[in-house]
Amino acid sequence: MKIAIMGKIHPDGLKIFNENKIESFEIDNFDENYLINILADVDGIVIRTAKLNSKVLSKCKKLKAVSRHGVGYDNVDFEYLSKNNIDLMITATSNAVSVAEHVMTMFLNLTKNINASDNLVKSGKFKKKYELPDFFELYNKTLLILGFGRIGKELAKRCLGFDMKVCVYDPFVNDSEIKKKNCLPVSKEEGFKNADYLSIHLPLNTTTMNLINYEQFKIFKKNLILVNTSRGGIINETALVDALKSKKIFGVGLDVFEEEPPTENHPLFKYKNTLLTPHNAALTLECRKRMSIESCENIYNYLFDKKNLNKNNII
Ligand code: NAD
Repeated sequence: MKIAIMGKIHPDGLKIFNENKIESFEIDNFDENYLINILADVDGIVIRTAKLNSKVLSKCKKLKAVSRHGVGYDNVDFEYLSKNNIDLMITATSNAVSVAEHVMTMFLNLTKNINASDNLVKSGKFKKKYELPDFFELYNKTLLILGFGRIGKELAKRCLGFDMKVCVYDPFVNDSEIKKKNCLPVSKEEGFKNADYLSIHLPLNTTTMNLINYEQFKIFKKNLILVNTSRGGIINETALVDALKSKKIFGVGLDVFEEEPPTENHPLFKYKNTLLTPHNAALTLECRKRMSIESCENIYNYLFDKKNLNKNNII
């Protein structure tokens, strides 16, 4: 059996192949023709963010399973895999905490004007602190979480710890489950109208694409802090830039973009009330180790030790 690792992963995950004398090799060239050649006889693939399309997959004659290092799988042609009985797995237990902490960092940074305070001290203007713009507390504020899955739930726990009122919109989760977690189920419209903070934890699909658009920016409170760590495209970036320009919201934190990397001089870059990170919410060292181990264990267990396979990881 032969395993390909597409993209560099933390070495801890590879131990499972090495210790069991399974042939595995890393690939960092994602050129289509190269992939067609090198993946032709592999039994399993661990994949980070490179694209795996049907043209390449159709040449993988021995492929039995693909394991995504992460939870989103829009870089892999899932339809092709399903039609051809090739299972796709994700690292469902690995990255929720890391992403939820990233959202908290964005909430706190944007709320407390940390970058401006830091600049003030470093530029020798300590005594000018009263000239800084107002900053605020999370305490008693209303948060709307869109999508109450793994990450949404971890974020709720943390925000309840800050005494926030946590509202949730997720039509696929029972109200009772939301209430059990001390959160309030709301309609999308009610949530949008009342939120001081909004965090998005949805998959990108035809329903969620452009979910936050010109219409929604008309409804939001002026003090809204909006954070998206899920997928670019759920917030329409042109509408977002327009909202920032006309001061329709207080601030925005983005880890994901319509186009990654965003173009040079992207219009979002010029606003002081934006906090932008390079799709690294799940890249803490701890999380990279967990994702590496879980993605390799998925493939190993799938091929050699089915009873230990975490079936919840199979899409
Ligand atoms: P999840 O599948 O556990 O949760 C998604 C939730 O969204 C589910 O509860 C589902 O019911 C809900 N949902 C689906 N469609 C909806 C809709 N139209 N309206 C309201 N709710 C809807 O996923 P997760 O692990 O929490 O991940 C959430 C997102 O975060 C995914 O897009 C994932 O790709 C992304 N993500 C990003 C990073 C990063 O590095 N920035 C890391 C991990 C995950």
